Amino acid sequence: MVKVVILGQGYVASIFASGLEKIKAGKMEPYGVPLADELPIKIREIEIVGSYDVDASKVGKDLYDVVKRYDPEAPESLKGITVRNGIHLRSLRNLPIKATGLDDGMTIEAAVEHLVNEWKELKPDVFVNVCTTEAFIPFESREELEKAIAEDRKDRLTATQVYVYAAAQYAKETGGAAFVNAIPTLIANDPVYAELARESNLAIFGDDGATGATPLTADVLSHFAQRNRYVLDIAQFNIGGNNDFLALTDKERNKSKEFTKSSIVKELLGYDAPHYIKPTGFLEPLGDKKFIAMHMEYVSFNGAHDEIIISGRINDSPALAGLLVDLVRLGRMAVEKRDFGPVYEVNAFYMKNPGPKEKQNIPRIIAHEKMRMWAGLEPKWL
Ligand code: NAD
Repeated sequence: MVKVVILGQGYVASIFASGLEKIKAGKMEPYGVPLADELPIKIREIEIVGSYDVDASKVGKDLYDVVKRYDPEAPESLKGITVRNGIHLRSLRNLPIKATGLDDGMTIEAAVEHLVNEWKELKPDVFVNVCTTEAFIPFESREELEKAIAEDRKDRLTATQVYVYAAAQYAKETGGAAFVNAIPTLIANDPVYAELARESNLAIFGDDGATGATPLTADVLSHFAQRNRYVLDIAQFNIGGNNDFLALTDKERNKSKEFTKSSIVKELLGYDAPHYIKPTGFLEPLGDKKFIAMHMEYVSFNGAHDEIIISGRINDSPALAGLLVDLVRLGRMAVEKRDFGPVYEVNAFYMKNPGPKEKQNIPRIIAHEKMRMWAGLEPKWL
């Protein structure tokens, strides 16, 4: 079994829960799950044991009722899990949502203890973080992080930074766990958290799930790099109508996305071609099916100038939810292998900004083979 706790029961988490139960019931093919039937741990072995949110309209509700808001065909097998209250720390600031958090009524230290105690009852193997994109500042040192928690610095810490701290404590006390950080907050890429995780038997996958236009841009950039075509500029647009795009209209939150998306250019090309790669706007009628477009100009042999233009409409949440079906199983495998801290072999394929910090983005086709080998599978094309 792989027991999963979800942090942030929004669109991605709800499509994950719904699709997972449909696959388990044999009602849906596992399309969009890269390692579908290949892993030794099967999809039917995944079990959601807990869910946390801070949206007052979700906390205390049955998981089934929350998932149904996103997918009217949510399976009834989701009934029986109550969405619990998480740590808020300004996550929903400036959004039209009424928030409630454990930190409203207790110190951060007490909230951490509260969560660790709940998790000791739920016994998760893997935590999946799909909270609203945060504005954050990474930590410079372990002392700074511990001081911020001890001094109850609610202005300094984000919810994700506290969740990982609590998960590390839980993993240390119970022998091991994995944390999937599918959002841009630097965790796998923050040396302070990497060290804390290694010491605490916590495997870290992160940061920011690689879906949508960015991995496609990465594939196209690798194509140019392999052929020594000189890229002059890259424009990439993303316009969507879900709550995540609404949250990203906030400048500080958008900065964190921009950071994880832009790191690919220099890492894949070897030089920093001028680029605009960031979520561009919110347009409600588009819903979860975002509009993406990219335009790249490059120089080819004999000074020829070429242009590539790609555009599409992509369902945002299912793209990440499908990857999560692999990531929770790989998380359990990392614990079994005792591969703690950021697991680069997994991150390089599944994450936009693969940690640890000293490692870079590599062409996904290579990352794919390395990830398969880490998981004990035959390489596909090597
Ligand atoms: P969403 O707004 O639908 O869901 C986020 C959920 O998290 C909401 O229910 C919100 O109430 C909850 N939340 C916010 N702060 C919380 C906290 N402190 N504790 C617990 N719950 C909290 O957004 P989404 O579309 O599901 O995206 C979730 C995250 O996944 C975003 O951070 C996004 O950057 C990341 N992500 C999404 C994709 C994708 O959709 N393809 C790709 C990469 C990364």
